Amino acid sequence: MKTWVQFFLIVMGLLALVACATPPTATSVPPTVAPTAVPKPTDAPKPTDVPKPTDAPKPTVAPTVAPTATPVPPTATAVPKKDLGKETLAPNDGWAAQGTGTTGGAAAKPENVYTVRNRKELIAALNDGKYPAPSATPANTPKIIYVDGVIDANVDDNNKALTCADYARDGFTQKDYNAAFDPAVWGKKAVTGTLETARLNSQRVQDERVRVRVGSNTTLVGLNNKATIRGAWFDVRGTATAPLTNIIIRNLTFQDTFDCFPQWDPTDGADGNWNSQYDMIALRYVDHVWVDHNTFEDRDTQDSQAPTYFGRHFEMHDGTLDITNAADLVTVSWNRFQNHDKTMLIGSSDTGATATGDKGKLRVTLHHNVFDNVGQRSPRVRFGQVHVYNNYYKIVNYPGFGYSWGVGIESQIYAENNYFKTDDKVDLAKIIGNYKGTLIYVAGTRVNDKDVDVLAAHNAANTTKIADKVEWKPTLVTKVDPIASVIATVESGAGPIP
Ligand code: CA
Ligand code: CA
Repeated sequence: MKTWVQFFLIVMGLLALVACATPPTATSVPPTVAPTAVPKPTDAPKPTDVPKPTDAPKPTVAPTVAPTATPVPPTATAVPKKDLGKETLAPNDGWAAQGTGTTGGAAAKPENVYTVRNRKELIAALNDGKYPAPSATPANTPKIIYVDGVIDANVDDNNKALTCADYARDGFTQKDYNAAFDPAVWGKKAVTGTLETARLNSQRVQDERVRVRVGSNTTLVGLNNKATIRGAWFDVRGTATAPLTNIIIRNLTFQDTFDCFPQWDPTDGADGNWNSQYDMIALRYVDHVWVDHNTFEDRDTQDSQAPTYFGRHFEMHDGTLDITNAADLVTVSWNRFQNHDKTMLIGSSDTGATATGDKGKLRVTLHHNVFDNVGQRSPRVRFGQVHVYNNYYKIVNYPGFGYSWGVGIESQIYAENNYFKTDDKVDLAKIIGNYKGTLIYVAGTRVNDKDVDVLAAHNAANTTKIADKVEWKPTLVTKVDPIASVIATVESGAGPIP
């Protein structure tokens, strides 16, 4: 009996132990499991995201978006697949290939390779990593600067946008300025006085933000075809005794470089003119420069949107790419110049010290560029030997057209196999404009599918003739394409590379 009792007690004890070890809430949902851990319906791929073969309206429309695709965040060290930053100008590719050629920052040490995303980072990269720039003389250290995204020059040091009103000093307003210098009030003498001083002081404040100085041995390159620089003036400037050298600018879109404070010059032309300060790129006292696969355009500050004061266009722009003051050995290839008036000035004056220094310099090659609705100066040349080949000019429904090739004093343009697409309004005698020049060589020009001697057209319409010859022949040239292929080649190839 005792063993049965003991057995019974042991069994009861064990049952009691099991009952105690089992939590009373075992059958309820544990409170630590948060409801948010349960996938919501919105987290799940939507039925419409899942491509079903039967959903496709046509067999040729293939679903390209994978339903599980997650965006990859951009990384600080992103480098383009094809590293444009390391590329150098090909041998014989235009005047910039002369002698040592143009290598830009290709020799940069790893610590001098930068990726920049705002104005401050750009200025620092151009000055050995220092911001603000320690002096007006930027670093000549070999450097590669990749531009990632959109950089606006009109910003403060916190990258906050600045407007023209932010730059105004001494109480400057355009209204007061116009009231004071209205030709009916002021006359035709050069503007002076407190309002002009206020304009200059205001302009100086904007200048401090938008002017970007570039040193020798620099490659400035867009990381991809989205890389854009807005509102900046790239002032690439050495001195007569210490010129800069060896600079590459590629794969960038230069947009809307504008001067908030244009100057009224009553003495400019018969009716006066508004003149502005900033080019998108200005090359002075510099040699061996390669400007390639960029776009230059006005988008938010198009001339067509600007007001007219005193019957004259309020011009907030200067050049897109001006090459002056003894700049030399420049190759400008595969760029798009669009929606802009003054495009490319080569040589700034007929007389004076700059003219003396320009003689024998200003040698430029322009090839495979698109000039799409630009007003004038594509290019306008003084003194230089300039090779202009395989460019595509579009002048369609553009009343602002003045001329394309400006034949200036002692200039020697060698133009071959350039294509012009125009409408009926373009006078073919105006493709060439004569500005005290005497020589140009022109061959292989085609206008709207017809071979046209644009020099003969010019000479027929003008009493001062230009001779169809120059005293040099280009030797630094890789390949001149036949005129028949120019539109297709240039239209597909010009501008930034994806
Ligand atoms: Ca200029
Ligand atoms: Ca000819």
